[in-house]
Amino acid sequence: MRALTVTPGQAGSAEVRDVPDPARDLGPVLVEGLALGICGTDREIVAGEYGEAPPGEAHLVLGHESLGRVREAPAGSGLEPGDLVAGVVRMPDPVPCANCGAGEWDMCRNGRYTEHGIKGLHGFGAELWRVTEDHVVKLDPALGHRGVLMEPTSVVAKAWEHIERIGSRALFAPRTVLVTGAGPIGLLAALLGAQRSLEVHVMDLATDGPKPKLVEALGGTYHAGGLSDLAEPCDLVIECTGVADVIVDVVDHTPNNGIVCLTGVSHKGRTTAVDAGAWNREMVLENDVVFGSVNANTRHYHQAAEALAKAEAVWLDGLLTRRVPLDDHVAGLERRDDDIKVVLQIAD
Ligand code: BGC
Repeated sequence: MRALTVTPGQAGSAEVRDVPDPARDLGPVLVEGLALGICGTDREIVAGEYGEAPPGEAHLVLGHESLGRVREAPAGSGLEPGDLVAGVVRMPDPVPCANCGAGEWDMCRNGRYTEHGIKGLHGFGAELWRVTEDHVVKLDPALGHRGVLMEPTSVVAKAWEHIERIGSRALFAPRTVLVTGAGPIGLLAALLGAQRSLEVHVMDLATDGPKPKLVEALGGTYHAGGLSDLAEPCDLVIECTGVADVIVDVVDHTPNNGIVCLTGVSHKGRTTAVDAGAWNREMVLENDVVFGSVNANTRHYHQAAEALAKAEAVWLDGLLTRRVPLDDHVAGLERRDDDIKVVLQIAD
């Protein structure tokens, strides 16, 4: 079969090549790959800065944002040939730690988890992939090609779930949310905020292109300036840029009981000055929480499926700004102005 592979650690090594079909022991569910969403993590892997091949192998099949069609599934699995599905990215660690053992592998305690297309496990950027029944989620057929948004939505669904769990430490009645960064994660976070009937503010550097319109279509307010644009600090912040100065700014501008969820994976070594004493004082005196959130477990994929089913199809289509055939992966992996989500098309 054909697959998009990289040699981890080697910049520019991405290529579409013939590889063996997926081994049966990877799971009884055989899926035809249809599409693959590209994100910053994929670009980091292609740049040789991240990623790990399966043990004993030189190459890694890229791709963790999947859309596929079931070809074979065991009886009783709830899956039928033809079903549209998305694969779950992370597999529990082999020990397993208490969290992985409980199905909460997104909260793995020992770091020995694997991730499809990222860490020690082949990804979904292939004509065929195999998974276990509990690592694949069936999509509403009405979602069609938009189902490729399932994985980034699961990441955002987890972030919202954790914000709500943290909020429930006391009376929780947020009115406003600020999302920094209007990429796919930021816009999907804004969608889930609007679905919670919150007043949504989204901040990004872009002054034109599709982003402002997508925020307005949610009933939200788009800000191309800094935090001083806001009349008052928002109750909740979902930070999706990973940019040091933005992080410092949002943590500096929380109201009492503020919750800041960090989702952007930043680069190491981008330093900025922080008054740790002032941060600590403010966080203590205001009961603030700043926390990080990554990945998702099956519960979050189901929450994501619900959120996507409720969203307007035309709004979701607005996120899918570029569709590129797998063979043109070089163009697909490039970052272009006005890109939101680029999708590599593997099959129709
Ligand atoms: C993926 C997550 C993954 C993280 C770290 C993100 O791009 O969406 O599923 O856990 O990268 O590898």
